[in-house]
Amino acid sequence: MSATILSIEVAVFTTVAKTAVDSHGHRHPSGAHEVHEALLTITDTDGAAGRVLGQPDHVRESVLDRYLRPALLGQDPFARERLWAALARRQRGAGGSLTDRALGLADCALWDLAGRRLGLPVWKLLGGARERISAYGSTMCGDEIPGGLATPDDFAAFARALVDRGYRAVKLHTWMPPIPRAPSVDRDIEACAAVRDAVGPGVDLMLDAYHWYSRTEALRLGRALQELDYYWFEEPMDEASIASYRWLADRLEIPVIGPETSGGKNFTRAEWASTGACDILRTGVTDVGGITPAVRTLHLAEAFNMDCEVHGNGSANLALAGSCLNYRWYERGLLHPHVDFDEPPPHLHTIVDAMDDDGFVTLPPQPGLGDDFDLDYIKAHTIASW
Ligand code: MG
Repeated sequence: MSATILSIEVAVFTTVAKTAVDSHGHRHPSGAHEVHEALLTITDTDGAAGRVLGQPDHVRESVLDRYLRPALLGQDPFARERLWAALARRQRGAGGSLTDRALGLADCALWDLAGRRLGLPVWKLLGGARERISAYGSTMCGDEIPGGLATPDDFAAFARALVDRGYRAVKLHTWMPPIPRAPSVDRDIEACAAVRDAVGPGVDLMLDAYHWYSRTEALRLGRALQELDYYWFEEPMDEASIASYRWLADRLEIPVIGPETSGGKNFTRAEWASTGACDILRTGVTDVGGITPAVRTLHLAEAFNMDCEVHGNGSANLALAGSCLNYRWYERGLLHPHVDFDEPPPHLHTIVDAMDDDGFVTLPPQPGLGDDFDLDYIKAHTIASW
């Protein structure tokens, strides 16, 4: 008899972070401080385990007891499509307590388990489309930190440094609340112009602007970006209004990219692609509920002759680069002049997305997702488990 899922466990542990989020959820540099993370482990009856990191709140004990364990325990761990559908259908009656994040963490752990059992990296299981991918440097949001990202000149100097480090593309996140005087279309344009000036014409540049601009503000900003030969324009408006994005994409030459935060998984992405609300589609394991629906989104976009960019970093988003050639840029970040992105946190031996001097990230050779966990550290720092 083939193996079945024996246990689903969460260990909450303390680790050290050197960044923190502000009141609007934007990440900035901070002093080293203790934070809590969660390791979700799914183990089968043959002893194979799949592991993935998440936030403790996304995999609370009640989420495991009410949804993940009833749907997954005793099931074939390789039946990912069936198990994903079983979880996704439980969401309708769950009143919001079974999130796409939880669904995604379970799905990613099952992919990790499959890779480890088969002795293959997940990106190869997904199709082995390539062995490395170009990375873009994705900055943190603008701030008020001296020598940080406080002025258009700061963004220009940092973009230049990123290009010198090897990046072939840079994405700005400009000033957003609660930073004073944010948002400002004029200041966004000023920063984007300063960056173009600093890196010259041969570097692809993108902007992720304030997310609640009006249509007319978004159009003015988009027109400025296309004058500056930017590569894409991301989430200037609330993404719940697909009609607004269609209105914007109809009026701009620069590719409009989305959605990032819209619910509805791959189904919503089909609406964006089929109605012309974007020129480049988006997905991501934390946005759509795991690797399984993210791969669907990538192939959906492919069939519309569209690129599909993946939001966010990490091993599971990186593995998607093996599934399709229309995922052009891996988002490496968030980056800031005061933060060493290449330094692993204490619970990892190495980072999964090291970048070479030519701006490429090589897909990891290890079986599974390729995260290099320090399991001894995690065990020694575990403060709760369920
Ligand atoms: Mg974004």
